[in-house]
Amino acid sequence: MNLILLGPPGSGKGTQGAILSQRTGLLRVATGDLLRDAVKRGSELGLKAKGFMDRGELVPDEIILGLLEDVLSRPEAQGGVVMDGFPRTVAQAEKVDQLLEARGERVDRVLLFNVPEDELLRRIMGRAKEEDRSDDTPEAFRRRVAVYREQTAPLVDYYRGRGILTEIDAVGTVEEIAERIEEALGL
Ligand code: AMP
Repeated sequence: MNLILLGPPGSGKGTQGAILSQRTGLLRVATGDLLRDAVKRGSELGLKAKGFMDRGELVPDEIILGLLEDVLSRPEAQGGVVMDGFPRTVAQAEKVDQLLEARGERVDRVLLFNVPEDELLRRIMGRAKEEDRSDDTPEAFRRRVAVYREQTAPLVDYYRGRGILTEIDAVGTVEEIAERIEEALGL
């Protein structure tokens, strides 16, 4: 089963993705984590990505498409993954389709995390303190929300049109939201 977690920054995809991965045994793949790791290691990918991330912009597709190919081709990704933080553009969504199709799989379900914007800002400022993320300043956060609306929100229609989109009310306790997700997936 291949699942996509779609939603604005701070909507809880990371937390729920980790829970879902534990409960289903599916590998969680988070491009944000992979990029942050690359920045920490100072790798070529990290050097290219850092400026975009700090500004709250998307790392360009020409960099991300290669990364998607790398991670989705790993043996441990065969049979299904939980995709957290990607695809974020239509080009990335098409790449994911193509990579899965090449191994006889497909995107089975997309969970859209719905959270009102004032609640997102509250959460993200809390997280900035806990995790010390350099892109959790109010300015970068606002940019990330705007980028989500412009470049990622079109994916809602992309997947809805295919009949595989399920909206999740992502306001509540972690456990409540995890239960809604399990119910939506029939787990
Ligand atoms: P995240 O942890 O998913 O919120 O991602 C943090 C930052 O990493 C984003 O604001 C982007 O700069 C970058 N990023 C993560 N995933 C992607 C992606 N799929 N495409 C482009 N940029 C990404």
